[in-house]
Amino acid sequence: MTPPERLRIRGGAVHDPTNGVDGEVRDVCVENGRVVASLPADAPSIDARGMVVMPGGVDIHAHFASSACNHARRLLPEEHAAEPAPAPPIAPGDGPARSGTGGTLPTTFTTAYRYAGLGYTTAFDAAVAPLTARHSHHELDDTPIVDAGLYALMGNDEYLLRQIDAGERDRARDYAAWLLGAVGAYAIKVVNPGGIEAWKSGQRNLTDLDQALGTSRVTPRAILETLVDAANVLGLPHPVHIHCNNLGQPGNSATTLATMEALAGRRAHFTHLQFHCYGGEFGKGPWGSAASRVVEYVNDHPEVSTDVGQAMFGAATTLTADSPVEYLLHASSGRKWVNIDVELETGCGIVPYSYKEKAAVSALQWAIGLELFLLSRDPWRVVLSTDHPNGGSFLSYPRLIQLLMDRSARDEQLARVNQKLLAGSALADGLAREYTLNEIAIVTRAGPARLLGLASKGHLGVGADGDATVYQREPDIARMFSTPRYVVKAGRVVVEEGQLRRAPEGRRLFVRPAYDSAVLRDIRRHFDAYSTVSFDNYPVRDVPGAPVETRQ
Ligand SMILES: [Zn+2]
Repeated sequence: MTPPERLRIRGGAVHDPTNGVDGEVRDVCVENGRVVASLPADAPSIDARGMVVMPGGVDIHAHFASSACNHARRLLPEEHAAEPAPAPPIAPGDGPARSGTGGTLPTTFTTAYRYAGLGYTTAFDAAVAPLTARHSHHELDDTPIVDAGLYALMGNDEYLLRQIDAGERDRARDYAAWLLGAVGAYAIKVVNPGGIEAWKSGQRNLTDLDQALGTSRVTPRAILETLVDAANVLGLPHPVHIHCNNLGQPGNSATTLATMEALAGRRAHFTHLQFHCYGGEFGKGPWGSAASRVVEYVNDHPEVSTDVGQAMFGAATTLTADSPVEYLLHASSGRKWVNIDVELETGCGIVPYSYKEKAAVSALQWAIGLELFLLSRDPWRVVLSTDHPNGGSFLSYPRLIQLLMDRSARDEQLARVNQKLLAGSALADGLAREYTLNEIAIVTRAGPARLLGLASKGHLGVGADGDATVYQREPDIARMFSTPRYVVKAGRVVVEEGQLRRAPEGRRLFVRPAYDSAVLRDIRRHFDAYSTVSFDNYPVRDVPGAPVETRQ
């Protein structure tokens, strides 16, 4: 029999908000990949005395393993030339040691090494066209260490829209359940409901919840209701992940609030909220912050959760299924771009971008994100993201944590940014709040894990995954969070003093909800009539591991 694999993380100040632990000094014991109550005194250990221990980070929304990411990598050769990423010093047998390139969209292996280097051990790619899910799984095969999953894009797919038009909501739900299982996805993602299909068919976009797609009965409202109800009836661990209509437009906060009200009382996750909180006249401006109004709604509605999608100054790459918004961004920035229609399923647009302190809109976006964080009353439902790499790279998380924890660092930057659009902004008026270490642990791990329904993640209670990050205390908070002293994955030390030591395989996170198989005949007919891929070849058959349970 092989001896159990054990590790004791000794004497750190543990921040484990799920279990009500706020900086208490204690040991964390891991055996065979899971947290246990105790270990024999002679078990191998690492010394965390004087340091801060948190569960491994959980990224609820990023883009790093999709066909769209690969198009973006292709679009950015200048980033590859600027930042070669040599192979890490991993001993043979401890995992693949592969070179790559950095920039806003690092290569697959480099992405994994960098996530682990920050103490993140779980991450989700938030937008995968089902038709290209096989590609995403292959990229995840080459993204070691992190446990990872993907969200499947729905809400602009021809088959679903036909069911909604025909009033066949039960069939729409069966289709959604089949699709999740067929492509190995974890959650349903809706991007600009109906708007992408409108863009592809010459209608340009849908800007109102009750605007119809062509002459059909399909509206953004009908799409959202159908999918939100489907996810809740199917008992998916994560509710529908919604990118609202009118992203990035002045005045879009009205759409965001109308969408939240349309779904009131139903569990729903509103992603990268910062991009949906602009005041002013719709489509015209002048731009302003409507963060206070939107976050007030979120505060009062426990069924609503969000991630912020903070904009960080510096290089970014915007990539989204929301083709019409990328067209506008390309037209206004003059930057090169890619636009791709993904058959009858969705779209894709990519524009390289840069957020500048001296640019008025960038400064407003930066301020709005921070307002959402600082005005939120419940950190469990307003969690951290930069919509990597749309609002900035995940490598900027440590700086973002500093802005949340250290008012002086925040005010220093605030004084430097363009003030033109900040009138009426709560941040400009002065927000004194500073996040505590426990609140940081909530928005970066415990909260996202809970919103994702991942019972063994985001905490360090007995039975949890043995994923932990050990930070050395430093006055410079950005430095503290960018170079953890140790990162532990499933009970094994993968990062030591900023050096990657091991790159074990991560787990795949996906669901396979039950559905009435009567729907399959109809879907097959649809494939036979309209798709370039045969129905039998469509499912991804070799997704590794076992599905996460649904609550059906
Ligand atoms: Zn996104």
